[in-house]
Amino acid sequence: MPGFELWGAEERKEVNDVLETGILMRYGFDGPRKGIWKAKELEEAITQTFGCKYAQLTSSGTAALTTAMAALNIGAGDEVIMPSFTFVASFEAVLSVGAVPVLVDVDDSLTLDPEAVRKAITPKTKCIMPVHMCGSMADLDALASICKEHNLILLEDACQSIGGSYKGKSLGTIGHAGTFSFDFVKTITCGEGGVVMTNNEEVLIKSDGYTDHGHDHKGVDRGADLHPFIGYNFRISELHAAVGLAQIKKLDRILAIQRANNKLLRSYLEQIPEISFRTIPDPAGDNASFLSWFLPTEELTRAAVAEMKAQGILPGNFYWYDNNWHYIRKWDHLKQATSLYNLNDAQKTALLKLQTQDFSASDAIMGRCISTAISLSWTEEQIREKGEKMAAAIRKVLQEQTSNA
Ligand SMILES: *Cc1c(COP(=O)(O)O)cnc(C)c1O
Repeated sequence: MPGFELWGAEERKEVNDVLETGILMRYGFDGPRKGIWKAKELEEAITQTFGCKYAQLTSSGTAALTTAMAALNIGAGDEVIMPSFTFVASFEAVLSVGAVPVLVDVDDSLTLDPEAVRKAITPKTKCIMPVHMCGSMADLDALASICKEHNLILLEDACQSIGGSYKGKSLGTIGHAGTFSFDFVKTITCGEGGVVMTNNEEVLIKSDGYTDHGHDHKGVDRGADLHPFIGYNFRISELHAAVGLAQIKKLDRILAIQRANNKLLRSYLEQIPEISFRTIPDPAGDNASFLSWFLPTEELTRAAVAEMKAQGILPGNFYWYDNNWHYIRKWDHLKQATSLYNLNDAQKTALLKLQTQDFSASDAIMGRCISTAISLSWTEEQIREKGEKMAAAIRKVLQEQTSNA
């Protein structure tokens, strides 16, 4: 996921343009900014690069999801269907607009299982939010047709899949709206930042106002703007947007390196018949930031993790099943509805119910999954060495199991 690995003179140049004028804010100050509009320029580059009509930058990916939900009229009384495997930001955004997150199982695509989604639909369901985890996509045809059938909103959390595509269209541009995160570890980074993408002008206008205290941006200056609705401050700064502008120009290079490195590493694991790989609905559209693979049982997977740890080759390999950030199993604060302020009753009830909800289908997937993060800085030699060492560690674990049996 690491655009930061290609940090260089290009990023410094863009940031310097802003430092020269000292106008760090994206709105106003038309004279002193001397024609430097980094946030506007990055929004334009995003629409061009990803093929959507509109883009609204935000201060983070979480803010982008929150903004998209507000602009799509998702709030109290509404249920949003989302996967049990994602980053905590997905449910944070749902809760922040007063809606209820409804968590459902993932399948071996590591994204929403369309059948599980169908079963979770109630009269209160307003939105289905697939999360395109670890660089690759959910089954968007299946989910879009469920949305159509039930008149639901499709909101794509594409924060981890910048540059990925599904049947030729960029992830994040296929639903009613979609989001990217540009935090420090994403495919391209602004340091911190995010974006809402949409083809609907009304969603753009609402996102634009919502991220800036409800300003309509129609006045002769900020003081003259009207406030047609309540908003917040989710603005990106010019400094952050400047970094993103340099990074987006490197996206093709980043994707090419990720894809080549991913393919080479995969060739080592493919030689082990017990290993299977994540299902990718459109393999050509994988952004390839991770290689996600499975062993036949949780026991073997844990043994492989332990063996790789013992050999010092675990870093960069993620066993999400035990991870605090990405999987329902360890989200105790969510399951206990631990909030600093009073949540609404529907939210509290739904969160406490998660304690007893059956996630065995997700457990059966996530307990056997390891995702290997693909670095942009690896040499071919390093990948070959890594592939050989990982394969040897896994073979050792498989052999031990056979001899124990
Ligand atoms: C990173 C991420 C976000 C939120 O991004 P921030 O910019 O860190 O707020 C949302 N969803 C997913 C799946 C992410 O990985």
